[in-house]
Amino acid sequence: MESALEPPVFKQMIEPRNNMSTSLTQLIEDLATANQILANEGVFDGFGHISVRHPENPERFFIARSMAPASVTAQDIVECDLNGDVHDAQGRKSYLERFIHSAIYKKRPDVNSVVHSHSPAIIPFGVTGARLRPICHMSGFLGSNVPTFEIRNTLGETSDMLIRNQSIGESLADTLGNNTVALLRGHGNVVVADSIQLAVFRAYYTEGNAKLQADAMRMSFGMGLGEPVYLSEEEARNSAETNAGQVERPWNVWKSKLPKQTH
Ligand code: MN
Repeated sequence: MESALEPPVFKQMIEPRNNMSTSLTQLIEDLATANQILANEGVFDGFGHISVRHPENPERFFIARSMAPASVTAQDIVECDLNGDVHDAQGRKSYLERFIHSAIYKKRPDVNSVVHSHSPAIIPFGVTGARLRPICHMSGFLGSNVPTFEIRNTLGETSDMLIRNQSIGESLADTLGNNTVALLRGHGNVVVADSIQLAVFRAYYTEGNAKLQADAMRMSFGMGLGEPVYLSEEEARNSAETNAGQVERPWNVWKSKLPKQTH
């Protein structure tokens, strides 16, 4: 008979980790690292989340419990299904906006990683109607269409702007369509990719593109020079393809810049 003093929850905490394959353990380590990188590089602040689809069960994905991304370690990762329900032996909760991830994974079988951030340079594009377009070769993945999700079309003018249930998540996923990035008006953006490393790369360069494009627009229009020159559809597609094969290099640089974890 089990002693009343025995902590059964502790057993549940340990067992799944011990049964994990090496590659799954590595994937979860990478997801924790991705959280830290995006915080360290200014894409995340106290908010923002990145997830990865479960490689052995496409109906599940991994995401951190509800916490500041800079502090996420592998022990903080929980499993979630495509309706946004969290399945965690310890009963931990994940982010209120996890439905961004569940709805996109449900709609987009090609997507294996999703980033949601409030990276600041994006915001002006979502609220002015100015199209975010690839201004340099590092952001060719933006392609020819970066749609903006207008939450008022779903919830009117009285929401708190958050993607707080599966149904709003599905509206956002519809707006994203087959594109790589969508803006959330007055809120932030969402970036998708087929790997954690590529999702980090794209989230980083989405923010960078917004800064460069705003500079180029200020310069062009301020000096009466007209529209800046953007990448053509083909230039965007080709550079995105080339860069997708190079993600390890910046990933390793960003990883090496991380402050030493104190926990
Ligand atoms: Mn948000």
